[in-house]
Amino acid sequence: MALKFLQEINSGTKNSSLKKDIICYYINNGENTLADLGKEMNLSIPTVTKLVSELIEEGFVMDFGKQETPGGRRPNIYGLNEDSGYFLGVDIKRFRTNIGLINFKGEVIDQQMDIPFKMDHTHEQFDELCDIINNFIQNTVVPKEKILSIGINISGRINTQSGHSYSFFYFDERPLTELFEERLGINVSIDNDSRAMAYGEYIKGCVSGEKNVLYINVSWGLGLGIIVNGQLYYGKSGFSGEFGHMTAFDNEIMCHCGKKGCLETEASGSYLYRKFLEKLNDGSSSSLSKKVDKKEDISLESIIKAALHEDMLAIELIEEMGSTLGKHIAGLINLFNPELVVIGGTLSEAGDYLMLPLRSAIKKYSLNLVNKDSSIRISKLGNKAGLLGACLLARSKLVELNGNMPKA
Ligand SMILES: [Zn+2]
Repeated sequence: MALKFLQEINSGTKNSSLKKDIICYYINNGENTLADLGKEMNLSIPTVTKLVSELIEEGFVMDFGKQETPGGRRPNIYGLNEDSGYFLGVDIKRFRTNIGLINFKGEVIDQQMDIPFKMDHTHEQFDELCDIINNFIQNTVVPKEKILSIGINISGRINTQSGHSYSFFYFDERPLTELFEERLGINVSIDNDSRAMAYGEYIKGCVSGEKNVLYINVSWGLGLGIIVNGQLYYGKSGFSGEFGHMTAFDNEIMCHCGKKGCLETEASGSYLYRKFLEKLNDGSSSSLSKKVDKKEDISLESIIKAALHEDMLAIELIEEMGSTLGKHIAGLINLFNPELVVIGGTLSEAGDYLMLPLRSAIKKYSLNLVNKDSSIRISKLGNKAGLLGACLLARSKLVELNGNMPKA
């Protein structure tokens, strides 16, 4: 019922679009009295009373009873019914997947991090992913029919509007969202992973009031989420933010996009990984050398962990990469004049080893007058940014909040 109502209000009458505005208001601002709600929304008390009582009947809003106010009045306060619907988020990484569930208010009520899963463009991996998601749905804390929508993050080119993915799982002419819906039995939307991370960080992370924000996702690849005037920027088909595939080097390194010399080939987790193994093979020593001798696998995470335990080789490579990355972020700052640049993704876990050379290069290479405006901050949500973003985007898209992005 909730799903039907939300779909209706997106194309509906004045009455239903006012109801949507009330839902958006509560998402953004939390609970309130009817008098204050009327004032904020510029509606008369009788109108607000009627709309809110309909929303109570429809299950979206609750009466939380009387509250004390300094003036001695004790008006009732109203707010969202957190149980009116749930949203599932799936954040697919290169070698693992995170799944989580939020209630209507945006609070995380269940999550499973680091489920082993290797992202590949094959039918087998698509099947395995659907099994993992279905398994989570079966075992989670709410019944399936209460999950209104699923948001899935995928790296690469995603057309959010049409539901097509062009980098993974493009087996069919039909949109990928349809293929997922067939298997999962719930409404599905997809988005680019870096954009979803930017959204998660914007709503629940280190962004505090800034409206023009760049989120740099330094993980296995290198991505960028752009927020302009408080809204996610998609570009015409949703392909904006391909920072990692800007040509930056005259090297002969083939990028997975098919071109040569992309920024990602020398400023990303995959670069760090490749270079680290090359150095070890060339005889450099590291605390991870023993692993190589024993033919054990080295992961990107283990290289970052080694740096945090003062492994000089790992530190030197992360520093070098931070400097390269900072130089190119300086260009983004010149282009966008952002209020805030957030450094997120797996590599942000390296902390100051990445951030100090990165800040120094930004200062060195961007225009001083421009970079004065830009704070550089490390992600607060870390590896949870994508998951939260996926859940919150599922809610936003269903209630069509993007024009009115919540800050809750
Ligand atoms: Zn490329």
